[in-house]
Amino acid sequence: MTYKNTPTYAQEQDQLDPLNHFRSEFHIPQRNGEDCIYFCGNSLGLQPKLTQSYIQHELDNWKANGVEGHFDKDRPWVEYHKLSKQSLSRLTGGQENEVVCMNNLTSNLHLLLASFYQPKGKRVKLMIEGGAFPSDHYAAESHMRRMGIDPAEHLITLTPKQGSIFSTDEIVSAIKNYDDELALVMFPGIQYYTGQFFDMKAIAKAAHDVGAYAGFDLAHAVGNLPLTLHDDNVDFATWCSYKYVNSGPGGMSGIFVHERHASDPEFPKLTGWWGHDSKTRFQMDNQFVPNPGVDAWMLSNQNILSSAAHLASLAIFDQTSMQELRSKSLKLTGYLEYLLLNDPIIAEHIEILTPSNAEERGCQLSVFIDSNGKAIFDELIEAGVILDWREPNVIRVAPTPLYNTFVDVWTFCDIFKQLIQNHASK
Ligand SMILES: *Cc1c(COP(=O)(O)O)cnc(C)c1O
Repeated sequence: MTYKNTPTYAQEQDQLDPLNHFRSEFHIPQRNGEDCIYFCGNSLGLQPKLTQSYIQHELDNWKANGVEGHFDKDRPWVEYHKLSKQSLSRLTGGQENEVVCMNNLTSNLHLLLASFYQPKGKRVKLMIEGGAFPSDHYAAESHMRRMGIDPAEHLITLTPKQGSIFSTDEIVSAIKNYDDELALVMFPGIQYYTGQFFDMKAIAKAAHDVGAYAGFDLAHAVGNLPLTLHDDNVDFATWCSYKYVNSGPGGMSGIFVHERHASDPEFPKLTGWWGHDSKTRFQMDNQFVPNPGVDAWMLSNQNILSSAAHLASLAIFDQTSMQELRSKSLKLTGYLEYLLLNDPIIAEHIEILTPSNAEERGCQLSVFIDSNGKAIFDELIEAGVILDWREPNVIRVAPTPLYNTFVDVWTFCDIFKQLIQNHASK
């Protein structure tokens, strides 16, 4: 790519962008009567304009039909979890019998740990990434404690040999190293702090080679870049949908369980009535017969209002593909990287923590600021640039291909440069 650091160039790129029209499908937060520059889709995605009507549909159904709403012609509540399967399959590369939306992310991590962390004999170790999101760390630790296994001894928190980025080789060789003591490897798809995208296929293969399972937390990966969970042969995955999937605060989570486990009715799992075969669920005879596929992992009847917001968002993803979104995303994040590194004033005061190889990252760049980081961050927010702050001195900048523009990226860098300059000259 040959980029240019001019507002005209950014405008031209927006005009050439075949996905540019998607921005108008979203409510863009306002500051002083103008659109904010919203780079926080990695934390909470924006609200699609469709969301309100999808939720209203369910409020109307409930109002008009009460309990009979379960059998609505368009979107029956009893079958609601099936309505998102096709879209989730496209987002994750999982088959429809391998993906289902349910619960929230950390709850799902627990359910999947209950299935896939099955320590036996000397195979008791659980490997997570050293900088794992606290919730993931707590979930892993608490499963070990509950089984009387000391996390101080058996929870492996893998950190990179150098800096904050892993090489695939070092992960693979660490897995080999623990060999038949390893029960499970649980890694992020994309690391929330550095933005590194891991080679899930290589990690899953390494785990399988030593007889362990491999599962992934895809909170920062789903809706960000194309995924191929089935072909990567991962054992399980889970994610939330309020980040890049724009389903609203606390929105639905989803899980993937590979067919080779999901099709085994004996595979260990925690169970509830919604995981019971839907054909005989209402016989209420206390003989658990699992639903076919991953639906056996469901516990409860769906949260319909939250699922409606989820469906509204997926309806937008259905109008394009992760490949098309990725193709724009590579250019958009590439442009951000170019502007940050080619402006001498910015470049002197920052370091990008995210891998420079675009294949090893999604849309987010994590930018370390050498001084006055928090003050600059606060001034960015004041200027209508919404991004987030992580200790110490890191801003995470996530231009998403669905609603961000090249002009957003250019304008952000222009404001950022002025703020850095102001502080440097104080
Ligand atoms: C966002 C995020 C969470 C949040 O968990 P919830 O259960 O949805 O509150 C957990 N893990 C990771 C890696 C995340 O990025």
